[in-house]
Amino acid sequence: MPNLNDHTRILIPATYRLLVVTILSSAIYAVLFNVYSTPFIIHAFQPAFFTLLHLMLFIYLYRNPQKRIHRVINTYGAIILLTSVPNTLYFTIGAWQNKWQFVEIFPPISGMIILSTTLIMLMLPEKLNRLVVITWSLNSLPVLLFLLTHPDELQTPRGYDLLFLFGPASLLILLIIPYQRSINHHMNSINFDLKHSQQLADRDFLTDVLNRRGLENWLNKLDSGSKICVLLIDIDHFKNINDTFGHTIGDHVLVEFASRLRTIYFNDHGLARWGGEEFIMVIVNPSEDLVSTLGPIFKHTLNQLPYRQVGKVTASIGISTIQPKAHFLDLVEEADKAVYYAKSNGRNQVVIYSSALIETKTPD
Ligand code: GH3
Ligand code: MG
Ligand code: MG
Repeated sequence: MPNLNDHTRILIPATYRLLVVTILSSAIYAVLFNVYSTPFIIHAFQPAFFTLLHLMLFIYLYRNPQKRIHRVINTYGAIILLTSVPNTLYFTIGAWQNKWQFVEIFPPISGMIILSTTLIMLMLPEKLNRLVVITWSLNSLPVLLFLLTHPDELQTPRGYDLLFLFGPASLLILLIIPYQRSINHHMNSINFDLKHSQQLADRDFLTDVLNRRGLENWLNKLDSGSKICVLLIDIDHFKNINDTFGHTIGDHVLVEFASRLRTIYFNDHGLARWGGEEFIMVIVNPSEDLVSTLGPIFKHTLNQLPYRQVGKVTASIGISTIQPKAHFLDLVEEADKAVYYAKSNGRNQVVIYSSALIETKTPD
């Protein structure tokens, strides 16, 4: 069944690929800048530092992708956005101080733009949107300002290239953000609907306790070492209630019966409608002592007060032995035999199954 994890399942491979591309491209820069050294100190260490950082991020993600994916994306986003700012400022300020010709020395950053745009499109969390806008402005404004105040540098192929990159292309990034937000919202609402439908599919429509499917899912989530005890709870002469008061009032009795069952609480237990007028309760790791006190608890809760419109309603309850959860179906069979015994022994009673003899608890 798809759930919130589906988003994570899409994000993990996408992040691996993005990290590999980042590591490879920055490693190429690191090698190039060291083989053909440049006069700029920032070239000597930034690409190598960038490669190392992303390699560490890759290993960190690889060790526990499910748990670390969101932290890695946030860090990746922050690194890729923030590390471009010192670079831009270094070259722009240097050019402004007439140390060098800006259009010739400004690094080729189109690749970075592709990476950041992909990142924003694919996965950047909403809370980083503001960071995107701020860092993008910190990158583009100094360059645009420099170019517009230095027409000799602007009126070159590289000058126009940078003008376009930091001008109209910046707008593209700003336009992508609301689009990406709407995709995110859409994904969240789909996930929410899926979870909601799964919950509905696991519940009995009339009484709102679990149905068989829901109980099975609940059982699957229990530790495999858990021991359980199964109770089958069958309303006595329910057919008479339907015949006397009508099916609708029969339904009301079922709802009231289920809500009384819901008030019985143990440390860990599951409650489901097993079928018709029969309910099942599974108690996790109960003590023998607890099992011996179940009779009065159930009789008190279910029988003591009259039911609206129909008056007294009783039930016969069969309790299984305590065994590992793997024996669930055997335990249901035991509880069923105990219910059968209770019915044939006069109903309105709680019977604990035992293989040698079926011990009867008579009503008090
Ligand atoms: P016993 O004491 O032996 O359990 O007798 P009983 O009448 O409770 O049991 P029986 O199995 O003969 O009848 C169960 C009845 O429950 C028959 C069926 O019409 C009714 N029933 C099953 N599901 C529903 C439901 O959702 N709503 C209503 N109103 N009746 C239901
Ligand atoms: Mg019945
Ligand atoms: Mg029945």
